[in-house]
Amino acid sequence: MGMVMIKCPETGHAISTGIEMDRERFRCSAVFFSRTYCGMCAATHEWFAKEAWVHETGSPGAGSRSAPRRREAA
Ligand SMILES: [Zn+2]
Repeated sequence: MGMVMIKCPETGHAISTGIEMDRERFRCSAVFFSRTYCGMCAATHEWFAKEAWVHETGSPGAGSRSAPRRREAA
């Protein structure tokens, strides 16, 4: 299971959308559109699935603070 993340267009920080989905399901899902409240901007950002990625959370409490190094291009 993972958490769908997006990059805040204002600050460039990764923010959690609060949507839990496993990576395979996310890949297979149709393109969708959503909105997520961003606490850094105190605003709601609109985003498409193609701009989002799944951050695998793995087993809870297993030191999952290190973000995977993917989608580095900005
Ligand atoms: Zn933001």
